[in-house]
Amino acid sequence: MEFATFADRAGTIDAEPADLEIVAHVRELLADAGDDACGGAEPQTLEIVARFAQGRVFPAWDSTTLDIGPSTCYEAIARAAGTNVGADDVEDRLADVGEIGEVAASYDFGGQQGLSAFISGGAGGGGDDLTVREVYETLEDLAHAEGSGSQDRKVDLLFGLFNRCSSEEARYLARIVLSEMRIGVGEGTVRDAIAEAFDVPQDRVERALQVSNDYGRVARVARDEGLEGLDAMELEIGRPVQAMLAQAGTVTDALEEWDEAGVEWKYDGARIQLHYNPAGSGPADTRVFSRNMEEVTDALPEVVEFAADTLEEPAILDGEVVAIDADGSPLPFQEVLKRFRRKHDVAKAREDVTVRPVFFDCLHADGEDLLEEPLTTRHARLRSVLGGSDTADHTGGDGTAADADVEGLSLLWLTDDPDEIESIDADALEAGHEGIMLKNPASTYSPGRRGKHWRKRKPDVETLDCVVTGAEWGEGRRATFLGTFELAVRAGDDLATVGKVATGITDEKLSELTELLEPHIAAEDGQDVDIEPAVVFEVGYEEIQTSPTYSSGYALRFPRFLGVRPDKDPADADSLERLERLQGQ
Ligand code: AMP
Repeated sequence: MEFATFADRAGTIDAEPADLEIVAHVRELLADAGDDACGGAEPQTLEIVARFAQGRVFPAWDSTTLDIGPSTCYEAIARAAGTNVGADDVEDRLADVGEIGEVAASYDFGGQQGLSAFISGGAGGGGDDLTVREVYETLEDLAHAEGSGSQDRKVDLLFGLFNRCSSEEARYLARIVLSEMRIGVGEGTVRDAIAEAFDVPQDRVERALQVSNDYGRVARVARDEGLEGLDAMELEIGRPVQAMLAQAGTVTDALEEWDEAGVEWKYDGARIQLHYNPAGSGPADTRVFSRNMEEVTDALPEVVEFAADTLEEPAILDGEVVAIDADGSPLPFQEVLKRFRRKHDVAKAREDVTVRPVFFDCLHADGEDLLEEPLTTRHARLRSVLGGSDTADHTGGDGTAADADVEGLSLLWLTDDPDEIESIDADALEAGHEGIMLKNPASTYSPGRRGKHWRKRKPDVETLDCVVTGAEWGEGRRATFLGTFELAVRAGDDLATVGKVATGITDEKLSELTELLEPHIAAEDGQDVDIEPAVVFEVGYEEIQTSPTYSSGYALRFPRFLGVRPDKDPADADSLERLERLQGQ
């Protein structure tokens, strides 16, 4: 396909406001890309077109970049525009029109034909014969230019391309080079266009995209091998997958939606994806990627060593790298950043800050893709990959002592008990971590998705000081303790109830609270106790919702006991007005 044709189609798409129409145009573009019968690893024009349409030169999993700043691009444009034009003219025009494509399209290129033919090997002459493939190959050369003089070589190569461009070609070349395509073609557009162009189901295209992270390749497989080819696409060690993401959420919602919640500590570090192939036919290959699929292997030798020492089978693991002090306690996130993308003096940086990986998911093990397996299965596999037991009765990893011995494993507790979740949270904070993650034990791994299956617990935004107006005698072991305390806020001269707190209280604390409250018991009816207003509790909560259950008309969701406020009287407790204000926020 000629680059002029691509630019023309991109222009049509750019001018099209309707999403459905855009999909139709991209479908045509893919269908018309043609089969250029190149073999092996060489990308087909179809693959290049699928990427260019999104403003990408290389697949998302590929860390290769053009490694040119805007000024290199301005310089190349200026040179192609003629001897009277300098990079500062380009910048001035950019300041006026605000978009590099528009600036590039405003020049008349092609005046430097002889020189362009010499540099790029092309015939030169204003966009009559530049193909999509030639543009790609030149950009690939440019990306791989290294060493002294490489910046000059990059400018030369880019100049050679611009010099052969018509206005419209230059518009889209500039945008591709600076990753500013912005013609409204998102990932979903290309996915839908691939499905329509090659008549394959959208969800299967989606799956293939998830495992390959390569829109170009998926388009080619869909065209050349159809559904069977798409379904046969698998994860590959060394090619990163988009990370599954979490959204903020509450324990209440998690327990309402799932039978039980998977609970893990939330580590305050940087996300890593470890790809490991043990020594066998070739040398061991360990690669580490960031959350954005950038390769960070060289910056994190501890992770590479961990893999070599611990792993025996090929695997792709998802986890977090955490900075630790001499005792192994976690250090703040800022410390990890000193190590994470470091390219120079890694050994020296390692002396200052040590890092350690913790893994919470396993996407692939020993030839088997696990994305479609439930979390509990993936976690069990993770445990065995890390050298822990793989006995069948140990289905989910359950935070047991046996699991605690597995180095590098993030423990997973399965529970429907808010009290237990509370104590896991308290332990996590105590150990210096950020809090907890709540995960749906039945959920599959959805790359790149910020879904409801992983929730990071919202920290308490505010706390409330509430008067204790009632309680219940406990049962069994706790029969002599008061518990489940009724809470109220001030409402004028009165009190209005807002909920009951039962979580976040140890037995020892219950005993203290019973001693504190017993003298204030006003009436008893079976287990229920009325308490005259005297004691104020500080409580955390996840949300305030309207509710007919309590006299205030509101209920605290998931209230947690934080402490007694001995310095406060009921008159100093929070008011209904504050509660209403907080609810409206
Ligand atoms: P946030 O960055 O606040 O959106 O929180 C999500 C991030 O928490 C993930 O991308 C991980 O980097 C990190 N994280 C820490 N511990 C865990 C865990 N146990 N499970 C999943 N993600 C975790």
